[in-house]
Amino acid sequence: MRLDKLLAHSGLGTRKEVKKLLKTKIVEVNEEVVTDPKVHVDPELDTITVGGEPIEYQEFVYFMLNKPQGVISATEDVMHETVLDLLELQDSLQDPHPVGRLDIDTEGLLVLTNDGKLTHQLLSPKKEVPKTYEAEIAGIMTSEDIEAFLKGVTLDDGYETLPAQLVLKEVNEDEQSSKVEITIHEGKFHQVKRMVEAVGKEVTYLKRLSMGPLTLDPNLELGSYRELTKEEIALLK
Ligand code: URA
Repeated sequence: MRLDKLLAHSGLGTRKEVKKLLKTKIVEVNEEVVTDPKVHVDPELDTITVGGEPIEYQEFVYFMLNKPQGVISATEDVMHETVLDLLELQDSLQDPHPVGRLDIDTEGLLVLTNDGKLTHQLLSPKKEVPKTYEAEIAGIMTSEDIEAFLKGVTLDDGYETLPAQLVLKEVNEDEQSSKVEITIHEGKFHQVKRMVEAVGKEVTYLKRLSMGPLTLDPNLELGSYRELTKEEIALLK
C-alpha cells in the first residue's frame, strides 16, 4: 500500500497533512528517511517510524454508534445526512460501512466497520443473529401477540417470519399504548414495524438495543460513537 495511505490510516492526518509531514523528513521506512508519499510499503514486513516512534497501523476499524433519527444508514445519500457523516474525518479514512440498516426514524445500536468478513457473519440469514429492539406501540400488546410472535407472524407480503420474542414492559390503558422489547433473528425490510402491524398495532418509536452479544453502551449519547473494545470485537467474531 502507498505510504501516504498507510500513514493516514494510522491516524496521522489526511493524505494532504501526511504529505506535509513527509516533507519534514521525520518518517523512516526500515531506518531510511522517506519523503515520497507514493512509495509502496507493507505494514507486515516494513518497519515504519514517525519521529522515531513505530506507527500503529490497524487494518480493521470497529465502531459502535448510537444512531439518531433523521440520519440514513448508508454510505452516501443526496438528501440526508448519513451515519458516515457522524464520524470524525480521521475515523472515516478506512472506509467503514454500516453493518445492516436501521430506518431513518429508528435510533440505537449500529456497528460500523471495514471488516467485510464480520459484516457478512452478522448479516448472514443462516446465522440468525438476534437483534433486540425497544419499541413504543400505539395500541395494547397482549399475551396473544406474544404467542403470535413466538410462532412467527405473516407480513403484508405473505412472508412468514421466524419466531420472535416479545416482552411487555409497560401498558398504558388510558393512552392505549404499550412499551415492549422485541427480539428478531432475521432482518427483513421494516421487519419490526411490519410484525407489529401484522397484529393490528403500530410502532411509534423504535430503538435497537443489541445485536448478537453486543449491547448499546448506555453512556453513548444519540449521535455519538466509540471504538469497540477488544473484548467486544472478540465476542462478535
Ligand atoms: N425493524 C424496523 O421496522 N425498522 C428498523 O429500523 C429495524 C428493524
